Amino acid sequence: MMRRLFNFQGGVKLREHKRESTQSPVIPANIPKTLILPLQQHIGSPAVATVNVGDKVLKGQVVAQAKGNVSVPVHAPTSGKVAAIGKHNIPHPSGLQSTCIIIETDGMDIERRQKSRFVNHKDLSPEQLRELIRQSGIVGLGGAGFPSHLKLSAERNRVKTLILNGAECEPYITCDEMLMREQAIEVIEGLNIMRHALQAPRCIIAIENNKPEALKEIKLAVKHNNLDFVEVVQVPTVYPAGGEKQLIQTVTGKQVPAQGLPIDIGVVCHNVGTAYAISRAVEHGEPLVSRYVTVAGSVAKARVLEVLIGTPVSDLIEECGGNRKTLSRVIMGGPMMGFALHNDDVPVIKTTNCILVNSSIADVPLPSRSKHALPCIRCGACSDACPVGLLPQQLYWHTRAKEFDKVQDYHLFDCIECGCCDYVCPSHIPLVQYYRYAKNTIWQQDREKKLSDISRQRHEFHKQRLEREKRERAERHKKKRQAVTADAAQDDKKAAIQAAMERARKKRETTNTMPKNTEQLTEQQQKHITEIDQRREKAPGPRTES
Ligand code: SF4
Ligand code: SF4
Repeated sequence: MMRRLFNFQGGVKLREHKRESTQSPVIPANIPKTLILPLQQHIGSPAVATVNVGDKVLKGQVVAQAKGNVSVPVHAPTSGKVAAIGKHNIPHPSGLQSTCIIIETDGMDIERRQKSRFVNHKDLSPEQLRELIRQSGIVGLGGAGFPSHLKLSAERNRVKTLILNGAECEPYITCDEMLMREQAIEVIEGLNIMRHALQAPRCIIAIENNKPEALKEIKLAVKHNNLDFVEVVQVPTVYPAGGEKQLIQTVTGKQVPAQGLPIDIGVVCHNVGTAYAISRAVEHGEPLVSRYVTVAGSVAKARVLEVLIGTPVSDLIEECGGNRKTLSRVIMGGPMMGFALHNDDVPVIKTTNCILVNSSIADVPLPSRSKHALPCIRCGACSDACPVGLLPQQLYWHTRAKEFDKVQDYHLFDCIECGCCDYVCPSHIPLVQYYRYAKNTIWQQDREKKLSDISRQRHEFHKQRLEREKRERAERHKKKRQAVTADAAQDDKKAAIQAAMERARKKRETTNTMPKNTEQLTEQQQKHITEIDQRREKAPGPRTES
């Protein structure tokens, strides 16, 4: 029974420009003299270099180890020598530099010795598979670069459907199509492995209906393997049908919640390129060191090449007959969601799917639009085209007014930057640029707020510590004073006792002197006094306080 498909709102029809690069079979690109390997080619923490300048490396050897769970290692794509480790231009819209390992290749392509090869993935537990995929440096090859082992670690029984994305809806990009045409068996093997890791009960492979050959090969591979839990479906060719949320809606009819993830509705979606990389890693012990890349636009021979990660873009352009001296622009990715490179000495990385050279084609709105922007006429065409159901013109107005709170009220962060609004805008307003500016500004403000919160907390803590120390000091002084007062009182007491004793002594002395009226006493009187004196001498002395 044919699966019922659902429409997502908005979207646009674009000229495809796919034929040019799908006429020749895929061949390996030349091994360049130098490979540039950024330590960060994925979402998460950058890897940490484990080699030193001057070290010899073999193909497949780890040259940078993952740091933390949201990270993957980097492997040497061929044999050679580490020439440098330091800052180098990387593919990024801002023209950033980042730490890279530069390898001078030796042209011999000597592989490291395999410790073991896994024949059947079912011999491994889901945990072992995930670890193997992680150690193979595999990230999502569809563009985002999220480490694949994490996207394969959904809780058991939570995943109901695993979707393999073969839509590839942007103009010019054909690497997934060629992969499905030429490596269908491996793609299906990768799907099987992912299903085992996720314990997913069913799988859907979605392919746009402008790729009949890819569809045929994939269907044959599914039939060949007797995979009755896999359904291959054709989806309409409309941009952005290959967007994760749009594809899920098209094939399941379910919407991923705003700010949510596909797993929230029991779905996990992977790219066909990722499935192929996983198959090579698990079944053949090959880490991710190369990928399919489309080279198209103003080159003599547009085609898809299997390119070593780290190959300079300039080498690829020359290999496909492009003239670097006449280039006006090079876009990494597609014309809708890609970005213009600041120069062509940057490397192909794990997420690079297309190099679009000197694109001056009229229907490509991003980022090669050349017309000047006119005022917004509030026609609403952008809202009709938005596949997420946003109000792009409101986002635009509030961004212009720097009203970033309101921009967020209009769900700026649900914007997938597909460029549909930009494409249909009759005033040629570069809307996506405004949204990127707004997002970056908000992120920057959030970062500054966090920093200022941290610094305020530190100040508060410092203040509290000073007050506590002051209190403790005062307490110590008080105790000391009390101790001194107690000592003084003791001394006074001792002095009083001393004085009392002195007084008693003097009194005794006074008592011992003879009175003046004792002269001329009678014998009887004298005798009586003598007797009294004798008794007194025998009696104990006067009592004194001690
Ligand atoms: S399509 Fe352009 S002109 Fe029309 S409402 Fe949107 S931003 Fe304004
Ligand atoms: S770029 Fe954003 S606002 Fe514009 S159509 Fe795409 S999702 Fe909608």
